[in-house]
Amino acid sequence: MADHHIVLVGGGHTHVQVLRDFGDRPEPGARLTLVTDRVMTPYSGMLPGHVAGAYSRAEMHIDLEGLARRCGVALCRGSAVGIDRTRRELLLADGGRLAYDTLSLNLGITPDLSGIAGADRFAIAVKPISGLLDQLDRLFAGEAVPRRILMVGGGPAGVEMALALRTRFQALAPQAAQPWIAIAAGDAVTPSLNPGMQQRVRAALARRDVTLLAPCRIAEINAEGALDTTGQRIPADAVIVSTAARAPTWLATTGLRQAADGSVLTADTLATTTDGAIFAVGDCAAIEGDRREKAGVFAVRQGPPLIANLRRRVRAEPLVSYRAQRDYLAILATGDGSAIAGRGRWLAVEGRWVWRWKDWLDRSFMARFAAGPPR
Ligand SMILES: Cc1cc2nc3c(=O)[nH]c(=O)nc-3n(C[C@H](O)[C@H](O)[C@H](O)COP(=O)(O)OP(=O)(O)OC[C@H]3O[C@@H](n4cnc5c(N)ncnc54)[C@H](O)[C@@H]3O)c2cc1C
Repeated sequence: MADHHIVLVGGGHTHVQVLRDFGDRPEPGARLTLVTDRVMTPYSGMLPGHVAGAYSRAEMHIDLEGLARRCGVALCRGSAVGIDRTRRELLLADGGRLAYDTLSLNLGITPDLSGIAGADRFAIAVKPISGLLDQLDRLFAGEAVPRRILMVGGGPAGVEMALALRTRFQALAPQAAQPWIAIAAGDAVTPSLNPGMQQRVRAALARRDVTLLAPCRIAEINAEGALDTTGQRIPADAVIVSTAARAPTWLATTGLRQAADGSVLTADTLATTTDGAIFAVGDCAAIEGDRREKAGVFAVRQGPPLIANLRRRVRAEPLVSYRAQRDYLAILATGDGSAIAGRGRWLAVEGRWVWRWKDWLDRSFMARFAAGPPR
């Protein structure tokens, strides 16, 4: 009899693997519900490729409804806004409550616009990705090609997006004057990447005519463009923000311990340090004492250990620790059929074969979650 209710909140990169695994190998005594505020969840690895025109919108999204049906998981369409930890109930925006035995949070993060005046009114934020895609659609459908586009944030996501926008505008209006595209990169571009990758990133930006502004910190965004912290005006028709991000603000009301960026603190078992019945994974979580940047690759890697520990909770067995590798393979598409890859402190390679490799990795990942016939 299925009496242990696992409630998964958010259809992020980790939870889609839980659905798939419990679909393939149902856990006796467990039933699962996925709570999600959207039915189509984007895969960020393919986002720049979609913006550049390499992938359709369907190709870069996982159909959570189809996947849940195929895996025998109940789907609850709604937005979580709180947790009643005493009664073990998830609180939903529509006033509903959902009782759980085990809860898992895979909610992602959104750019923290609070440090830039006017950003909430005038900027396009890269997350949530659905909002970004709607606003980019309007930009691409405009009668005239925008003259100036400013990307705020020089991390890998900002760089890939700027390069993808260059490709898209070249394809949309090959005869028209191309927009000035610039990145306001804070102190330096892609500081988290190794020196060889950074050098290749700077060369790709120059080759693709994307202006790098660094050091450059944006203090204000308005209808005319942006203003940096020295008071310099940067006129722009569109300002896209891809800067430091925060976990959803409602998590502060749950009483779960949080890191400075609002991420929920967990042990290396992925269970929160506050409440053993609640797990947190992906960008919205941080393993205590383990400072690492936010990247989808970590959310993907947490799939197998989360699956193992959810099964152990159901069986009332002790949880196992997850030893996260610090290094990971980073691959950046340059939008011109090539890509830069690197790992650790020294490895940095580039070429069309790297792009084909990334394309194969991303398509293989997505193929695992295609909606098929119900089990
Ligand atoms: C342009 C861009 C390119 C990137 N490229 C890469 C890359 O190539 N490689 C890489 O490793 N990382 C990349 N990243 C980073 C990557 O996007 C994140 O690290 C990754 O998405 C985090 O995955 P996640 O599973 O934690 O959350 P997400 O993928 O953000 O999923 C969270 C889900 O939870 C849902 N949700 C949120 N709140 C609620 C709620 N209250 N109730 C119900 N549902 C909710 C959301 O709708 C969403 O479906 C990129 C980011 C950007 C912006």
